[in-house]
Amino acid sequence: MAERADLRNRINVMLFHFDQRLGPRLLFNVAEIQDTRITASLTRLMDFNFLEENRAFVNAMANVVYSSMFFSIPNPIARGGVEQFMLSFVIFDPTITEYLTISSLEEEMSKIISKLILLSEMFIIITYTNPILEEFPEVENLLKSLRDNTISVFQDIFIGQIEGTKDAISQILGKIGFEAGKQIAQELRVEEEDSVKAYTDALVNSPILTRWGNINILHFDPGEKVATISVDGSIWTESLGVIATKTCAFIEGMLEAIFSKILDEPIICDEMRCASEYSYVKDCIFQIAPGGSSREITAYKEDQTIKDMGAQEREKAVEAIISDIGEKFYHELDPMIRLIQLFNKAPFVSDHFIQDSEEEVKFLVVCNYWRYPNEIMCNSCEKWIRKSSKVPVNLLKSKHRICEITYETENQ
Ligand SMILES: [Zn+2]
Repeated sequence: MAERADLRNRINVMLFHFDQRLGPRLLFNVAEIQDTRITASLTRLMDFNFLEENRAFVNAMANVVYSSMFFSIPNPIARGGVEQFMLSFVIFDPTITEYLTISSLEEEMSKIISKLILLSEMFIIITYTNPILEEFPEVENLLKSLRDNTISVFQDIFIGQIEGTKDAISQILGKIGFEAGKQIAQELRVEEEDSVKAYTDALVNSPILTRWGNINILHFDPGEKVATISVDGSIWTESLGVIATKTCAFIEGMLEAIFSKILDEPIICDEMRCASEYSYVKDCIFQIAPGGSSREITAYKEDQTIKDMGAQEREKAVEAIISDIGEKFYHELDPMIRLIQLFNKAPFVSDHFIQDSEEEVKFLVVCNYWRYPNEIMCNSCEKWIRKSSKVPVNLLKSKHRICEITYETENQ
């Protein structure tokens, strides 16, 4: 699993103004990684429909979880007598602990809002088309202190709980799952004790195990001691929904214990992709690898699995286009429509949107493979899009791997 970047690099604090005519408009974005593509996609993807005055609303999309609070400041000259704002706290690539903690930031956000509403600067800021944060030091201080305070809230939770690279709640769930797995492994009814197949059949059909989801063994090589397992309808993803982070550490631990028993040596199990991460993903994928193997070998095996999965998903996208539209008809479509079709059909594209001008068409694409090293999928993506859509695109990646895909229109 790719290491998560430092929390500071994954947090954005954003302040929006609701213009009566133009709708929500981003005023400031406090972030270590400033990237206009990210900001544009965030603003576009955020859900402004559920906002209530002074109550935090938590939502997740793509690889982001955010908490937003709506507030208003009386202004006699504004239409409706108030100016309306929204304060958002955004975490990229959250851990389950961060997801579960974000709702407890409501108090920190309220504190900042109670100070923001007293600032006369707020009425000046909204008159600027592109206000610059440094020119409004009081607002800057408040937004930055929200970021710093919440980082210390998260750090206080983590103290004493982090042993490895995994987050606190995943570690605990993994340990409980491992204990459960040991019990299950003991109770597996197997006729031929030394037949690996008998074990895997018993595993897939075990009534205790299927309580946690429908298990499928996609690939198993007992000699190499590697396996790829999919779990569809995991009880964790079903109950938590899409929350932009993996939730199946319990199953991870359980499979680790069971496969250690089947293979008769300690193995490790990693959930590589989880249905809780993205709305488009239906099943969770687990990789089994020898426990004694070095980190490099394990990472290599995981990369291979992801690579295979990626290749299959690209094929699926093209197959879906051929069966829905027909290859010939597809290639007669407008280039923009061809790309939209491709992104809609690709199971790994969780969102995309267009900004077109006279000279070029630009797509911002949120891809599920953003988490993996570039050589897994990203490096070949431009080529893949060009080949399957026959549109001469250019692909640029952002720091958070929202890709910008452009092509020049013919009338230029
Ligand atoms: Zn999962």
